[in-house]
Amino acid sequence: MRFADIIGQDDVKRHLIGTVKENRISHAQMFLGREGFGSLPLAIAYAQYINCQHRTDSDSCGECPSCRQISQLAFPDLHFVFPVPTAGSEDKSVSDNFFEKWSEFIMQNPYGNYQQWLDFVGAGNSQGLIRVKESSEIIRKLSMKSFSAEYKIMIIWLAEKMNAETANKLLKLIEEPYPKTLFLLVAENAENILPTIISRTQLVRVPRIADSDIQAGLQQRAGISANAAEKIAGISEGDFGRALDYCGHAADLAQNLELFMKLMRTSYSFKAPEMVALAEELGALGREKQKAFLAYCERMVRENLIVNQHLDKMAHLTDDESGFASKFSRFIHPQNSMLIAETLDKAIYHISRNAGAKIVFMDTIITLARCLRMPNE
Ligand SMILES: [Zn+2]
Repeated sequence: MRFADIIGQDDVKRHLIGTVKENRISHAQMFLGREGFGSLPLAIAYAQYINCQHRTDSDSCGECPSCRQISQLAFPDLHFVFPVPTAGSEDKSVSDNFFEKWSEFIMQNPYGNYQQWLDFVGAGNSQGLIRVKESSEIIRKLSMKSFSAEYKIMIIWLAEKMNAETANKLLKLIEEPYPKTLFLLVAENAENILPTIISRTQLVRVPRIADSDIQAGLQQRAGISANAAEKIAGISEGDFGRALDYCGHAADLAQNLELFMKLMRTSYSFKAPEMVALAEELGALGREKQKAFLAYCERMVRENLIVNQHLDKMAHLTDDESGFASKFSRFIHPQNSMLIAETLDKAIYHISRNAGAKIVFMDTIITLARCLRMPNE
């Protein structure tokens, strides 16, 4: 993957290229930003640039043997660790056992996210984790002599999915690194990572992608019209993965909107049989779908508040969403929006921790009912 293959992010690219040119490559770096902002492809392009035999001032050559191998994710001195679902025994629940699937997934879409990865590998309700067994694998790989490259590079995708034990073992390696070894950690949430790890890595902040870059990227890669690309860029919040998702999965977007409308109507009408039926319907979705739906609800509440405040021009809604908001937005106002957001947050938290989904949704519906009836004073 070359820097040229990455949507936008010119400042980050310049920074990374600068570290190579000025010979100040830090041995442990943390790429921090939402998945769809491109942290992983940036880390891969960086690894390729570092190893390229004919790099230019702005990019790797894309043609030398290391470039060719890295573009296939098959370079012997570039290692990947990523969250995996349980696979029978503890020994099998490691990245190597899933690597073929994962490289297929990333080659298809380097902006793919955690949930899509779990779906891709058919994880069902199993969560993806970087388990403690992985840390001994990391140590084993990095203690081997390098094959040909100057640097051995370990990319850890979604470092926040390491459990505490894994993180502590890794910490040791980061504190006392092997020579010519680079750790490139890719993460979304700094809060879920040991502070001691964060303080020992150099932070590479990956900001949201500019809407104009997303628009151009969509036109080029998804082959959609400038008009459609502009609309999707507007609701993607700087997240190219999400933008691609909106293009390819218009059905999911429509399903989430339908469920959102149902959730709001059912909560407001406060009829017990309908509330129970909806809690059951939502409770039967896969766990990752439930989280994605709740995140969608958070966005809709935010956007409806914007419409409620008569700032329609600042709202990012599709035509269907906007149609619903024109009537519904009067129910979302400054008096209740905070509480609704907290309620949805709490639901995501409990779902992530494997709470009984039906009960979580029932609680959510009851609290929403109260929120939606709050007067806007
Ligand atoms: Zn090259």
